[in-house]
Amino acid sequence: MAKTMAVNVGSSSLKFQLLEMPAERVIANGVIERIGMDDAIVTIKYGEQRSAEQLAVHSEDNAHVTHTKNGKKYENILAIKDHQQAINFVLQQLTTLDIIQDFNEITGVGHRVVAGGEWFNHSVVVTDSVLEKIDRLSDYAPLHNPANAMGIRAFQKLLPNALSVAVFDTSFHQTMPKENYLYSLPYQYYTRYGARKYGAHGISHHYVSQRAAVMMNRNLSELKLITLHMGAGVSITAIEDGKSIDTSMGFSPLSGVTMATRSGDVDPSLVYYIQEHEGLSNDDMVNILNKKSGLLGISTISSDMRDLLDVQDTNDHAQLAVKIFVNRIVKYIGQYIAEMGGVDAIIFTAGIGENSIPVRQMIIERLSYFGIELDVEANNVRGQEVEISTAASRVKALLIPTNEELMIAREVESLK
Ligand code: AMP
Repeated sequence: MAKTMAVNVGSSSLKFQLLEMPAERVIANGVIERIGMDDAIVTIKYGEQRSAEQLAVHSEDNAHVTHTKNGKKYENILAIKDHQQAINFVLQQLTTLDIIQDFNEITGVGHRVVAGGEWFNHSVVVTDSVLEKIDRLSDYAPLHNPANAMGIRAFQKLLPNALSVAVFDTSFHQTMPKENYLYSLPYQYYTRYGARKYGAHGISHHYVSQRAAVMMNRNLSELKLITLHMGAGVSITAIEDGKSIDTSMGFSPLSGVTMATRSGDVDPSLVYYIQEHEGLSNDDMVNILNKKSGLLGISTISSDMRDLLDVQDTNDHAQLAVKIFVNRIVKYIGQYIAEMGGVDAIIFTAGIGENSIPVRQMIIERLSYFGIELDVEANNVRGQEVEISTAASRVKALLIPTNEELMIAREVESLK
């Protein structure tokens, strides 16, 4: 059976999942961190027969193979100078570990690309002109698109016969109407620079919305959904007729709700005020908004929701950070219910959404006005696909682990 690789390349990391398609069986998944360093960390998990829908992927650190209850784990620490070497190493290792016998077994590679602008409203087979556009869109995602393009080129070199597909994190949001994606700025900035809302996490929002319809035994076309992707980055999307009609992230992933280290929405004039008073350069300020704000900035102790929940009873800052996090999410949900004129289900996904029982509880309890009732016992789980609202709840609350890799592999399959 054909094998498809779903790839997510970051500036210093590479995550992949190898799936047998169309059976959607995961054969291996892995991550290389610290690319460019003398002590890059490689982890490859393999040797188990899992269905892609059931897989929760998370990486860990440490050159050996261990047997775990879920299969085997290869770990190594070595010098990896660049992405080309990283990809070369992964493919060699897949053959050494007997996961594949020959590179040609991999017939498709799907790449997650962060910014697709207005050019890409669906996934595409990568051609020279597509690659050139991904390069040009680096203006919109300077940290990500260059790494994504590098990953595509490196895989093309090693697997010239495999179908190369770009899956954009913004495509799903291209269905937003103009009144929702346009900022109230002089119109010429939109026409000149494409200054508008593009959103993010589209692959994840798309995947969980499809699963929600399956769980509810309804057609996506008749549902109003609000999907909460709550990880280190957090975004909320209003979905009607299976299409994104509004989302909380904007021109960049900085806007919307409070995140691990990103501020979310801030009055722009406050940014200039703080810069002036603190004597900060533009780069300094952008760094503060992206890396030092959010849960970390408010709590002053951690960007990790687990740490904050652990100490919130004794630490006022931690408690405040959790309150602000929940409050911003509840506000966006209210806004989207108003925009859609109702909602059928609210969906929780990603690190916090899948694992934090108290955060889900705090959010749902604030929504009782809209007819959402939490099933406390059903909510007492992590990382499973399950309904967490009561049978009587007018609006459903669903916990759906995201699976961006599977979504990417399906996109590759659909373009074969
Ligand atoms: P992601 O970006 O989807 O990998 O999610 C990462 C985030 O999930 C981290 O910032 C953690 O704070 C959060 N997270 C993971 N497990 C838990 C948990 N049990 N409770 C609260 N937050 C969690």
